[in-house]
Amino acid sequence: MSSTARAGLLSEWARCRWIWNECCARSKKAYAEEEKCGAARLDKMLTEASTANAWLREGSSVQQQQVIRDFAKSRAKALKDIKGRLPQQRRAGMPKCKKKHAADPTLNYTQSGFRLKDGRLHLAGGIVLSVVWSRELPKPPSSVLVCRESLGHWYASFVVATTTEELPATGRDIGIDWGVKETATTTSDIHDLPHAQHGRNAAQRLACYQRRTARRKPKRGQAGSKGYKEAKRQTAKLHKKVARQRQDTGRKWAKRVVRDHDRLAVEDFRPKFLAKSTMAGKAADAAIGVTKQALIHMARKHGRELHLVHPAHTTMDCAQCGARTKHALPLLERTYACTACGAVSPRDKNSARVMLVRAGLNPAGADRVRAAGPPVHGQREPGIPSL
Ligand SMILES: [Zn+2]
Repeated sequence: MSSTARAGLLSEWARCRWIWNECCARSKKAYAEEEKCGAARLDKMLTEASTANAWLREGSSVQQQQVIRDFAKSRAKALKDIKGRLPQQRRAGMPKCKKKHAADPTLNYTQSGFRLKDGRLHLAGGIVLSVVWSRELPKPPSSVLVCRESLGHWYASFVVATTTEELPATGRDIGIDWGVKETATTTSDIHDLPHAQHGRNAAQRLACYQRRTARRKPKRGQAGSKGYKEAKRQTAKLHKKVARQRQDTGRKWAKRVVRDHDRLAVEDFRPKFLAKSTMAGKAADAAIGVTKQALIHMARKHGRELHLVHPAHTTMDCAQCGARTKHALPLLERTYACTACGAVSPRDKNSARVMLVRAGLNPAGADRVRAAGPPVHGQREPGIPSL
């Protein structure tokens, strides 16, 4: 990126941040006085502010109005969300002020604020960027978000209306259960996803960087040293690398699953389920979160049917007859043996099958039909038992 463009983006960001924070202050006051604080009022504030401050007029007015609209939207949403909450909890959801050194620059440009020409991105206010394209845009974009992430790299992400890319029907269903050792256990043996250990491989180095950061931490009121900043950057870089690896693994797997199946029954996993204390739990949580997101995205993109299944009791139910054991299976117990019908199956495979049954899909439509198993009788309601 040219230094002119960088300087242009940063001063644009400074102006937008000022306007955003001004909006925050107005909104807070208006809320306390139970006044309205919609886009029209904020627009008036902006007009007054630019008359008074010459430096605001140097920026693009299109972009500044966009900030007002973004703020008004975010505020309206927050106001809707906080209805019915306790007064002391209300402030949590409101748009927050953006601090200079804490907030990474983000600039949102809609239709009138940008244009693409000869592979270069022209932004309102005369900023021209050469873009390194990760892939070709399928259609003209409706908006673009220009942002700088924690490592100081700038990105432009374009919003393009999506169309579903239909894939040929396969006639197959799949049930998916998340876990620690295997990130995903499925009703199809060839689609199981072992935990990739991206976090563990990086853990040693991460611990080293974190110790280094702690050692170099400045005393209160002192500025951080160069070495401290470097150690912090190294930590952030490694975190980002692990996150990217996870996403890559998750996407590739999701693509395979979605390509091979018409209908998916997926455990609606909530993080922090596993991440109580251990590093392994946290890593598994992160891997599952990313993989689940990739799967949902991929299924939507290719027009596949996806059911999210409530995770309660999935390890206690029998996929064959629907009977529920009295006690939760201890984690070390790797096989599930049903006392009602005598079916024996690996624990996670049983859970994956329970997903299918609960989603109302046909377990026989799964890849592997257990020929020796007893016939499915008295199938349970796909309804969700409460905890
Ligand atoms: Zn059974």
